[in-house]
Amino acid sequence: MNLEHLNALKKLLSSPKKIAIIPHKNPDGDAIGSTLALWHYLSNNGHSATIVAPNDFPKFLKWMPGAQQILNFERENSQSKTVINEADIVFTLDFNHLGRVGQMSEILESAQATFVMVDHHQEPSDYASIMYSDVSMSSTCEMVYVLINQLGDENSINPDMANCIYTGIMTDTGSFKFAATTSNTHRVVADLMDKGAEGTEIHHRIYDTNSPSRLHLLGCALKNMVILNEYATAYITLSQEELDKYNYQKGDTEGFVNYGLTLDGIKFAVIFIENKEEGIFKISFRSVGDFSVNDFARKHFNGGGHTNAAGGRSEDNIADTIAKFTALLPLYKNQLQS
Ligand code: 5GP
Ligand code: MN
Repeated sequence: MNLEHLNALKKLLSSPKKIAIIPHKNPDGDAIGSTLALWHYLSNNGHSATIVAPNDFPKFLKWMPGAQQILNFERENSQSKTVINEADIVFTLDFNHLGRVGQMSEILESAQATFVMVDHHQEPSDYASIMYSDVSMSSTCEMVYVLINQLGDENSINPDMANCIYTGIMTDTGSFKFAATTSNTHRVVADLMDKGAEGTEIHHRIYDTNSPSRLHLLGCALKNMVILNEYATAYITLSQEELDKYNYQKGDTEGFVNYGLTLDGIKFAVIFIENKEEGIFKISFRSVGDFSVNDFARKHFNGGGHTNAAGGRSEDNIADTIAKFTALLPLYKNQLQS
């Protein structure tokens, strides 16, 4: 965070405040890890802080210290609204435009609080008066670590916070392998281990949680994969019917999209997952190298994210969605083949 914004934040936090902390919809390890770490930090420093998530999050994140305290805007609607309306400060973490919180955006737009953004996605919008946006960061969790250091409170990072921050860095970097993993990321992680983060245990709790039905759903997804070697592209579709057949639980499809990239020569991997209730296909895009899935998602599928990992949506049926997608590929043929 630059000095001007840092000083403004220090001043704000110099007396006890009512604070709402908001992750994006369908929160992942980084969103839950960063909001929880910040929540511990602020609560331990005399503030009255509450995390309000737009909706529920996967079971494999529920072990995280403090996770039971998170309000679910869909389930605890009036309590959530009160927290946001009464907040002096609203921290938004791991997203950078209010459309990312779904139904909650309206109430955030009318909130009177001072907004603080901490985020590593590209092209932030300008709703926050205090901004910490850095697209070179591996994760929002790494940014929360840096921010706490900048506030001069690195010694207040306890084992619970270290575990939360470690989790988000681990999940957002694909266990320290994606391109955004820097030497500094490793230094942060080393310090977190010194502060009590249990890396092996965290890895186990996040990744060794398969149910038989999730593995069968993965089998179905892999069977459905279409490989377009001409465009160095592989895509997967999962219909609501297939999700239902394998007893889909929130979080079950996490990581499926990455399998496309394990194919030799494939640079662009996509998964289209039906959500009948919302009447949409949720889409995840992944790439290796220079091909920007952030640009692709933003331009064609009402989404965004990072250069190599982005998401979006389609309101068309599956046939039209796939037709639109495959018709776009020739426009990117040069980029995908280079
Ligand atoms: P995932 O595919 O795992 O849902 O998301 C990949 C990345 O893209 C994450 O950083 C996520 O925050 C971002 N992302 C996912 N869906 C959307 C979307 O609909 N809009 C935008 N702007 N970003 C998204
Ligand atoms: Mn993130």
